[in-house]
Amino acid sequence: MNSNAVIAIHGGAGTILRASMSASAETEYHAALHAVLSAGQRVLADGGSALDAVSEAVRLLEDCPLFNAGRGAVYTAAGTHELDAAIMDGSTLEAGAICCVKRVRNPILAARSVLERSEHVLFTGAGAEAFAAAQGLEFVEPAYFDTEARHRQWLIARGQQRAMLDHDGATLAAASSSNHGADAHDAHDEPTPHEPIDPNRKFGTVGAVALDRHGHVAAASSTGGVTNKQVGRVGDTPLIGAGCYADDATCAVSTTGSGEMFMRMVAAYDVAAQMAYRNVSLQEAAHDVVMNRLPKIDGRGGLIAVDARGNLTLPFNTEGMYRGFARLGETPVTAIYR
Ligand code: ASP
Repeated sequence: MNSNAVIAIHGGAGTILRASMSASAETEYHAALHAVLSAGQRVLADGGSALDAVSEAVRLLEDCPLFNAGRGAVYTAAGTHELDAAIMDGSTLEAGAICCVKRVRNPILAARSVLERSEHVLFTGAGAEAFAAAQGLEFVEPAYFDTEARHRQWLIARGQQRAMLDHDGATLAAASSSNHGADAHDAHDEPTPHEPIDPNRKFGTVGAVALDRHGHVAAASSTGGVTNKQVGRVGDTPLIGAGCYADDATCAVSTTGSGEMFMRMVAAYDVAAQMAYRNVSLQEAAHDVVMNRLPKIDGRGGLIAVDARGNLTLPFNTEGMYRGFARLGETPVTAIYR
């Protein structure tokens, strides 16, 4: 039995400024992260697999409206939600993913079904929903994913005619509502001069990585994508190797950030590849991807990663990343800012 079992989670990275977050919101985020980590920890303590732990953690994050995945997902340019998710088992290299689904309550469970019950790895749109329906997964009305906070972010992004990462939009929406009160819902609401909109500053996605007591690792990621994205746009999250990767021989990785750049850098796999081919530590490999390679193409965000020995790293190159980890028998640790 591996005594280093551990789970780590993230709830997205981006411009998360202490100044634009109320004390009560901060408490809410810490409590949510703590609850999810405790649930994941229980799965591992009971001898559950890393795959079970990451599925459960991401399912709970999807159900929590604070995060941009499942309920609380951001809006597309058409005012709809399109959800992506992926999961990978490091012990078998099996993987499953779905993208552009609109009515599956928990996209991560659909991805898990693909992993377990399909010869394919990735399903999209109507085909993904048909597959999920055939597996008996829960469907919801599209309005289930609506939240007031994301809607406000979308109106601002739409007013600016750009796509925004989730937490940058939240920062802006907070600045905007504190300055304009009830006018914050106006699509033409302008950002304050000291809060310039930077389309590359806001990311939200959820993810989990874990090492179980049997020595196996797994990773899972789920997202609504970026605010005001074009319909049909798919980011890194559901792409094995970009937004999610797991291999017992190296590590398990879940990313969050400007998806296009993470795709171009094959970011999650690059961490594993550097460990395998350059023979560097988990921490060194992850640091290189997040702090050196991604910034070269303006890639902003972060990742969480664990290896089969229980080493853990949670680097990000943005102002903040909702994150936390829990080792067996220890109190979960959560953090938001740098
Ligand atoms: N990486 C996600 C995407 O591009 C967004 C995020 O992490 O916030 O869809």
